[in-house]
Amino acid sequence: MGEIQQNYRKRKTIYLGLIAALFAILIAFRFIAPEGEHKVTSLEAMMIVSLIGIVVAIYAVFRCPKCKTALVPAYSASWGKLNHCPKCGVNLSGK
Ligand SMILES: [Zn+2]
Repeated sequence: MGEIQQNYRKRKTIYLGLIAALFAILIAFRFIAPEGEHKVTSLEAMMIVSLIGIVVAIYAVFRCPKCKTALVPAYSASWGKLNHCPKCGVNLSGK
C-alpha cells in the first residue's frame, strides 16, 4: 500500500468518526431540547456550534491526498466505495 492510500485511509477514519459524532450530537439534541417554542439555551448553542465545527472539519479533513479535492460528495455518491479521486483519478483504495 502506497503513501496516498495510507493517507486516504487515515482521512477516511477521521471522516467516519466525525460523522458518528455528528449523529450522536443530533440524537442527543432531540432528547435535550424541550418541546415547543423556547429560548435557545447555552447548551443548545454549544451543540449548534460543535455541529458547524464538525461539518467544517469533515470538509477540511476528507480531501484527496494528492490534489486536495473535497471527497465528501463523491464518497457519499459512491456509497463508501470510492476507489479513485474524481478529479485527478489517483487510486485511493489500493484496489
Ligand atoms: Zn485527487
